[in-house]
Amino acid sequence: MTQAASTLLVTGASRGIGAATALLAAQRGWNVAVNYTSNAAAAEDVAAQVRALGRLAITAQADVADETAVRAMFARIDAEMPPLGGLVNNAGIVGMKARLDEMESARWRRLLDVNVFGSLLCAQLALLRMSTRHGGQGGAIVNLSSMAATLGSPAMYVDYAATKGAIDSFTIGLARELAGEGIRVNAIRPGIIDTDIHTASGEPDRAQTAAGMIPMKRAGTASEVAHAIVWLLSDEASYTTGTIFDVSGGR
Ligand code: NAP
Repeated sequence: MTQAASTLLVTGASRGIGAATALLAAQRGWNVAVNYTSNAAAAEDVAAQVRALGRLAITAQADVADETAVRAMFARIDAEMPPLGGLVNNAGIVGMKARLDEMESARWRRLLDVNVFGSLLCAQLALLRMSTRHGGQGGAIVNLSSMAATLGSPAMYVDYAATKGAIDSFTIGLARELAGEGIRVNAIRPGIIDTDIHTASGEPDRAQTAAGMIPMKRAGTASEVAHAIVWLLSDEASYTTGTIFDVSGGR
Protein backbone atom coordinates (compact mmCIF):
# COMPACT_ATOMS: atom_id res chain seq x y z
CA MET A 1 0.00 0.00 0.00
CA THR A 2 1.30 3.47 -0.76
CA GLN A 3 1.61 5.85 2.15
CA ALA A 4 -0.62 8.39 0.43
CA ALA A 5 -3.53 5.97 0.69
CA SER A 6 -2.99 4.74 4.24
CA THR A 7 -3.27 5.91 7.81
CA LEU A 8 -0.57 6.31 10.43
CA LEU A 9 -1.50 6.02 14.11
CA VAL A 10 0.81 8.03 16.35
CA THR A 11 0.21 7.44 20.05
CA GLY A 12 0.86 10.41 22.32
CA ALA A 13 0.73 12.85 19.42
CA SER A 14 -0.66 15.93 21.14
CA ARG A 15 2.82 17.34 21.84
CA GLY A 16 6.54 16.61 21.83
CA ILE A 17 8.01 13.92 19.58
CA GLY A 18 4.58 12.50 18.72
CA ALA A 19 3.22 15.84 17.47
CA ALA A 20 6.36 16.49 15.42
CA THR A 21 6.06 13.00 13.92
CA ALA A 22 2.39 13.46 13.03
CA LEU A 23 3.12 16.70 11.20
CA LEU A 24 6.20 15.46 9.33
CA ALA A 25 4.38 12.25 8.36
CA ALA A 26 1.51 14.33 6.95
CA GLN A 27 4.03 16.31 4.89
CA ARG A 28 5.25 12.97 3.51
CA GLY A 29 1.77 11.82 2.54
CA TRP A 30 0.34 9.99 5.53
CA ASN A 31 -3.17 10.43 6.87
CA VAL A 32 -2.86 10.58 10.64
CA ALA A 33 -4.76 9.39 13.71
CA VAL A 34 -3.63 11.67 16.56
CA ASN A 35 -3.88 9.82 19.88
CA TYR A 36 -3.67 11.64 23.22
CA THR A 37 -4.76 11.21 26.83
CA SER A 38 -5.66 14.52 28.41
CA ASN A 39 -5.02 17.52 26.17
CA ALA A 40 -7.81 17.44 23.58
CA ALA A 41 -7.17 21.01 22.42
CA ALA A 42 -3.51 20.31 21.69
CA ALA A 43 -4.41 17.12 19.81
CA GLU A 44 -7.05 18.97 17.80
CA ASP A 45 -4.47 21.62 16.90
CA VAL A 46 -2.11 18.92 15.57
CA ALA A 47 -4.99 17.34 13.58
CA ALA A 48 -5.92 20.74 12.12
CA GLN A 49 -2.31 21.21 10.96
CA VAL A 50 -2.41 17.76 9.32
CA ARG A 51 -5.62 18.68 7.49
CA ALA A 52 -4.07 21.98 6.38
CA LEU A 53 -1.42 19.86 4.66
CA GLY A 54 -4.18 18.19 2.63
CA ARG A 55 -4.33 14.93 4.62
CA LEU A 56 -7.08 13.30 6.64
CA ALA A 57 -6.82 13.40 10.44
CA ILE A 58 -8.81 12.38 13.48
CA THR A 59 -8.04 12.86 17.14
CA ALA A 60 -8.50 9.78 19.30
CA GLN A 61 -8.52 9.97 23.09
CA ALA A 62 -7.27 6.76 24.69
CA ASP A 63 -4.92 5.89 27.52
CA VAL A 64 -2.74 3.25 25.81
CA ALA A 65 -2.79 1.27 29.06
CA ASP A 66 -6.60 0.96 28.87
CA GLU A 67 -7.38 -2.01 26.61
CA THR A 68 -11.05 -1.13 26.15
CA ALA A 69 -10.22 2.43 25.12
CA VAL A 70 -7.45 1.29 22.76
CA ARG A 71 -9.73 -1.26 21.06
CA ALA A 72 -12.35 1.48 20.61
CA MET A 73 -9.70 3.77 19.12
CA PHE A 74 -8.70 1.17 16.51
CA ALA A 75 -12.38 0.56 15.70
CA ARG A 76 -12.82 4.30 15.09
CA ILE A 77 -9.79 4.35 12.80
CA ASP A 78 -11.26 1.39 10.88
CA ALA A 79 -14.56 3.21 10.50
CA GLU A 80 -13.39 6.74 9.77
CA MET A 81 -9.95 6.57 8.13
CA PRO A 82 -8.25 4.83 5.19
CA PRO A 83 -6.67 1.45 6.09
CA LEU A 84 -3.92 1.48 8.69
CA GLY A 85 -0.42 1.32 7.20
CA GLY A 86 1.75 2.46 10.10
CA LEU A 87 2.01 2.72 13.88
CA VAL A 88 4.32 4.86 15.98
CA ASN A 89 4.32 3.60 19.58
CA ASN A 90 5.34 6.96 21.00
CA ALA A 91 3.20 7.44 24.14
CA GLY A 92 5.47 7.09 27.14
CA ILE A 93 5.92 8.39 30.66
CA VAL A 94 8.68 8.82 33.24
CA GLY A 95 8.49 9.06 37.03
CA MET A 96 10.09 11.52 39.42
CA LYS A 97 13.86 11.36 39.68
CA ALA A 98 14.65 8.87 42.48
CA ARG A 99 16.78 5.91 43.52
CA LEU A 100 15.03 2.51 43.56
CA ASP A 101 15.02 2.48 47.38
CA GLU A 102 13.01 5.71 47.37
CA MET A 103 10.29 4.66 44.89
CA GLU A 104 6.70 3.63 45.59
CA SER A 105 5.99 0.33 43.80
CA ALA A 106 2.74 1.68 42.28
CA ARG A 107 4.73 3.77 39.83
CA TRP A 108 6.39 0.65 38.39
CA ARG A 109 3.02 -0.82 37.43
CA ARG A 110 1.93 2.40 35.76
CA LEU A 111 5.22 2.71 33.86
CA LEU A 112 5.00 -0.91 32.69
CA ASP A 113 1.33 -0.47 31.74
CA VAL A 114 1.88 2.65 29.62
CA ASN A 115 5.36 2.07 28.19
CA VAL A 116 5.29 -1.70 27.67
CA PHE A 117 1.71 -3.04 27.79
CA GLY A 118 0.46 -0.09 25.71
CA SER A 119 3.10 -0.67 23.03
CA LEU A 120 2.42 -4.42 22.86
CA LEU A 121 -1.34 -3.90 22.65
CA CYS A 122 -1.16 -1.24 19.92
CA ALA A 123 1.33 -3.35 17.95
CA GLN A 124 -0.96 -6.39 18.17
CA LEU A 125 -4.02 -4.47 17.01
CA ALA A 126 -2.02 -2.82 14.22
CA LEU A 127 -0.51 -6.07 12.94
CA LEU A 128 -3.93 -7.72 12.86
CA ARG A 129 -4.85 -5.04 10.31
CA MET A 130 -1.55 -4.77 8.40
CA SER A 131 -0.04 -8.27 8.28
CA THR A 132 -0.42 -10.16 5.01
CA ARG A 133 -1.03 -13.22 7.20
CA HIS A 134 -4.23 -11.56 8.34
CA GLY A 135 -5.30 -10.24 4.93
CA GLY A 136 -3.59 -6.86 5.27
CA GLN A 137 -1.31 -5.11 2.81
CA GLY A 138 1.77 -4.65 5.01
CA GLY A 139 3.03 -1.69 7.00
CA ALA A 140 5.62 -0.39 9.41
CA ILE A 141 5.87 -0.01 13.17
CA VAL A 142 8.28 2.31 14.97
CA ASN A 143 8.65 1.96 18.75
CA LEU A 144 10.05 4.73 20.95
CA SER A 145 12.77 3.35 23.14
CA SER A 146 15.35 5.56 24.88
CA MET A 147 19.09 5.78 25.42
CA ALA A 148 18.04 5.02 29.01
CA ALA A 149 17.73 1.39 27.85
CA THR A 150 21.50 1.22 27.40
CA LEU A 151 22.60 3.70 30.10
CA GLY A 152 20.26 2.39 32.84
CA SER A 153 19.50 5.85 34.29
CA PRO A 154 20.98 5.21 37.77
CA ALA A 155 19.67 7.51 40.55
CA MET A 156 17.28 8.96 37.97
CA TYR A 157 14.70 6.36 36.92
CA VAL A 158 15.96 2.80 36.55
CA ASP A 159 12.32 1.68 36.28
CA TYR A 160 11.78 3.80 33.16
CA ALA A 161 15.07 2.52 31.72
CA ALA A 162 13.88 -1.06 32.28
CA THR A 163 10.66 -0.40 30.37
CA LYS A 164 12.69 0.90 27.43
CA GLY A 165 14.97 -2.15 27.58
CA ALA A 166 11.80 -4.20 27.16
CA ILE A 167 10.91 -2.13 24.09
CA ASP A 168 14.31 -2.93 22.54
CA SER A 169 13.78 -6.70 23.02
CA PHE A 170 10.21 -6.48 21.78
CA THR A 171 11.33 -4.62 18.65
CA ILE A 172 13.91 -7.27 17.73
CA GLY A 173 11.53 -10.18 18.34
CA LEU A 174 8.49 -8.70 16.63
CA ALA A 175 10.58 -7.62 13.63
CA ARG A 176 11.69 -11.22 13.10
CA GLU A 177 8.18 -12.55 13.74
CA LEU A 178 6.63 -10.27 11.09
CA ALA A 179 9.47 -10.02 8.56
CA GLY A 180 7.74 -12.41 6.17
CA GLU A 181 4.35 -10.73 6.55
CA GLY A 182 5.04 -7.32 5.02
CA ILE A 183 5.59 -5.49 8.31
CA ARG A 184 8.88 -3.86 9.33
CA VAL A 185 9.41 -3.11 13.02
CA ASN A 186 12.12 -0.72 14.22
CA ALA A 187 12.84 1.43 17.25
CA ILE A 188 14.36 4.82 17.95
CA ARG A 189 16.47 5.51 21.01
CA PRO A 190 16.31 9.26 21.60
CA GLY A 191 18.85 10.81 23.92
CA ILE A 192 17.87 13.97 25.79
CA ILE A 193 15.25 15.75 23.70
CA ASP A 194 13.81 19.17 24.49
CA THR A 195 10.16 18.33 25.30
CA ASP A 196 7.82 18.64 28.30
CA ILE A 197 8.50 15.06 29.46
CA HIS A 198 11.29 16.24 31.77
CA THR A 199 8.79 18.16 33.93
CA ALA A 200 7.43 14.79 35.10
CA SER A 201 10.87 13.78 36.40
CA GLY A 202 11.16 17.02 38.38
CA GLU A 203 13.79 18.41 36.00
CA PRO A 204 11.93 20.68 33.56
CA ASP A 205 15.22 22.30 32.43
CA ARG A 206 16.98 18.96 31.78
CA ALA A 207 17.43 19.74 28.08
CA GLN A 208 19.58 22.71 29.09
CA THR A 209 21.24 21.42 32.27
CA ALA A 210 22.31 18.09 30.75
CA ALA A 211 23.68 19.57 27.53
CA GLY A 212 27.26 19.43 28.82
CA MET A 213 27.30 15.62 29.04
CA ILE A 214 26.13 15.16 25.45
CA PRO A 215 28.99 14.93 22.91
CA MET A 216 27.21 17.42 20.64
CA LYS A 217 26.79 19.71 23.70
CA ARG A 218 23.08 20.24 23.16
CA ALA A 219 19.76 18.46 23.56
CA GLY A 220 17.96 17.23 20.47
CA THR A 221 14.70 18.55 19.11
CA ALA A 222 11.44 16.69 18.59
CA SER A 223 11.78 17.40 14.89
CA GLU A 224 15.18 15.68 14.74
CA VAL A 225 13.66 12.52 16.24
CA ALA A 226 10.62 12.76 13.96
CA HIS A 227 12.84 12.75 10.86
CA ALA A 228 14.35 9.41 11.90
CA ILE A 229 10.93 7.94 12.71
CA VAL A 230 9.36 9.03 9.44
CA TRP A 231 12.33 7.67 7.47
CA LEU A 232 11.94 4.29 9.18
CA LEU A 233 8.23 4.32 8.25
CA SER A 234 9.00 5.12 4.62
CA ASP A 235 9.74 2.86 1.68
CA GLU A 236 13.29 4.28 1.71
CA ALA A 237 13.80 1.97 4.71
CA SER A 238 12.36 -1.03 2.87
CA TYR A 239 15.21 -3.42 3.87
CA THR A 240 15.50 -2.14 7.45
CA THR A 241 13.79 -4.12 10.19
CA GLY A 242 14.72 -5.05 13.75
CA THR A 243 16.98 -1.99 13.94
CA ILE A 244 17.33 0.18 17.04
CA PHE A 245 18.41 3.61 15.86
CA ASP A 246 20.12 6.04 18.27
CA VAL A 247 19.18 9.72 17.88
CA SER A 248 21.22 11.04 20.77
CA GLY A 249 23.88 13.54 19.73
CA GLY A 250 26.59 10.89 20.13
CA ARG A 251 25.76 9.86 23.69
P1 NAP B 1 5.91 14.31 26.11
O1 NAP B 1 6.36 15.60 25.56
O2 NAP B 1 5.73 14.15 27.57
O3 NAP B 1 4.54 13.91 25.35
C1 NAP B 1 3.91 12.72 25.73
C2 NAP B 1 2.73 12.48 24.83
O4 NAP B 1 2.19 11.20 25.20
C3 NAP B 1 1.60 13.46 25.00
O5 NAP B 1 0.96 13.62 23.73
C4 NAP B 1 0.66 12.78 25.98
O6 NAP B 1 -0.70 13.14 25.81
C5 NAP B 1 0.84 11.34 25.57
N1 NAP B 1 0.58 10.37 26.61
C6 NAP B 1 1.10 10.29 27.87
N2 NAP B 1 0.63 9.21 28.50
C7 NAP B 1 -0.19 8.58 27.62
C8 NAP B 1 -1.00 7.44 27.68
N3 NAP B 1 -1.06 6.68 28.80
N4 NAP B 1 -1.73 7.09 26.59
C9 NAP B 1 -1.71 7.83 25.47
N5 NAP B 1 -0.97 8.95 25.35
C10 NAP B 1 -0.23 9.31 26.42
O7 NAP B 1 6.91 13.12 25.65
P2 NAP B 1 8.11 13.10 24.58
O8 NAP B 1 9.31 13.69 25.21
O9 NAP B 1 7.63 13.63 23.28
O10 NAP B 1 8.39 11.53 24.50
C11 NAP B 1 7.78 10.71 23.52
C12 NAP B 1 8.41 9.33 23.62
O11 NAP B 1 9.82 9.42 23.45
C13 NAP B 1 8.19 8.60 24.95
O12 NAP B 1 7.99 7.23 24.73
C14 NAP B 1 9.49 8.84 25.69
O13 NAP B 1 9.75 7.83 26.64
C15 NAP B 1 10.48 8.80 24.53
N6 NAP B 1 11.74 9.48 24.84
C16 NAP B 1 11.76 10.82 25.09
C17 NAP B 1 12.96 11.43 25.41
C18 NAP B 1 13.08 12.91 25.72
O14 NAP B 1 14.16 13.35 26.17
N7 NAP B 1 12.05 13.72 25.48
C19 NAP B 1 14.14 10.67 25.46
C20 NAP B 1 14.07 9.30 25.21
C21 NAP B 1 12.88 8.73 24.90
P3 NAP B 1 -1.43 14.35 26.67
O15 NAP B 1 -0.67 15.61 26.33
O16 NAP B 1 -2.82 14.37 26.19
O17 NAP B 1 -1.27 13.96 28.10
